[in-house]
Amino acid sequence: MLNPDLNVFKFGGASIKDAAAIRNVANILEDYKNRQLVVVVSAMGKTTNALEIVAHAYFKGNLELANQRLTELRNATFTTVQELFGDTPAELATALNDLFVTVEWVFDDPPSDNYDYDYDQIVSLGELISSHIITAYLSHSGIASTWLDARDCIITDNTYREGWVHWPETLQRIIRHVPPVLEDGKLVVTQGFIGSTTENFTTTLGREGSDYSAAIFSFCLDAESMSIWKDVPGVLTADPRLFENVSKLERLSYKEAIEMTYYGASVIHPKTIKPLQNKSIPLHVRSFVHPGEAGTEISADAGDVYPPMVAIEKEQALVNISTRDFSFVAEHHIRELFDHITTTRLQVNMMQNTAISFNVVVNDIDDRIERFCALVEDDFKTTVDRDLELITIRHYTPEVTESMRRGKVTLLEGRLPLTIQMAVKEVAVIARKE
Ligand code: ASP
Ligand code: MG
Repeated sequence: MLNPDLNVFKFGGASIKDAAAIRNVANILEDYKNRQLVVVVSAMGKTTNALEIVAHAYFKGNLELANQRLTELRNATFTTVQELFGDTPAELATALNDLFVTVEWVFDDPPSDNYDYDYDQIVSLGELISSHIITAYLSHSGIASTWLDARDCIITDNTYREGWVHWPETLQRIIRHVPPVLEDGKLVVTQGFIGSTTENFTTTLGREGSDYSAAIFSFCLDAESMSIWKDVPGVLTADPRLFENVSKLERLSYKEAIEMTYYGASVIHPKTIKPLQNKSIPLHVRSFVHPGEAGTEISADAGDVYPPMVAIEKEQALVNISTRDFSFVAEHHIRELFDHITTTRLQVNMMQNTAISFNVVVNDIDDRIERFCALVEDDFKTTVDRDLELITIRHYTPEVTESMRRGKVTLLEGRLPLTIQMAVKEVAVIARKE
């Protein structure tokens, strides 16, 4: 049974990017202050990107750059606070200063040998900052709320930068920490994206993971619904930054939402849907610019006639792998290749094999492809084609497929009854390189 009074809201970076945006969020929450509400927030604006630069600079031993970027973030943070409050409330100033000090402490020690670990200790700062500011601002606006450390609730393994949630422990912790605050008549404000190992080391759940955090809270609390507040009116048939004729979907099934997000529709983090689906918790994707409008409802009982929907993933690479001895690519080769794909954490978005080659389209992240190629080098020859886009069209029609191909060369294509995928390169990119 779902809890009819309890809702979970997630506010992403764009919805809290500056003082004006945070005031808007407080206005939205004003209408819900007498309900039981858990508010999950991302880092403000592009903070996570800035912190990634800090983490990388520290790891590479460039403390000057790391310190400079951290100082810029600190200044921007206190400017926002100034704009919101005039005089910074003492408690908030202490909380924020303490956060920056913890990163300075990290800088005092040499980097560990695990970049992903260092990354999580530094990049998690963004959500800690934003959640402190928002909690303080809600209280300042007469909306009673309590700051909750998501690391006391969301417990993961130690796969840094991609923590796998330990559900039984997480469930127990959420049940212990959240309902008492809600029953006390306060909103709970907590961080998206971050968690903790059982040894109390901070982890993150993967970029854009705040949606997933909100789904974890929704699941564990049997929320009546979850809402993601965005700068678009709902789930659209394609990214409005890339296409003109996009339309909003009123309803979408969980299954369709899982398919689309898996293929890179960036509106929701792909891991978000499953926990909600398991308990039939509806997910609303709504506009923080027009909070009165309905948005898109994602639930079990949505119709199944859909218009064509397009998702595009950038920074893709096609890795062509062939046996050095021209033997056929057999099952045992594929098993060996996938062992290496798993250890180097290559994320495969499409694959196909021919008699003597195996082709995978993967996200081009850090030096993962180089590490993979080095591992298989003895037995396989690899060629890598970078700067590709992976276009996925669900419910494709010949017209939409043709229009997506225009000006592009298709390097690999896969077709299923409802889905077509094409790894493409812009003709202009090819011409420039030749
Ligand atoms: N702040 C994190 C990111 O930008 C998590 C999120 O926003 O969902 O990736
Ligand atoms: Mg986001």
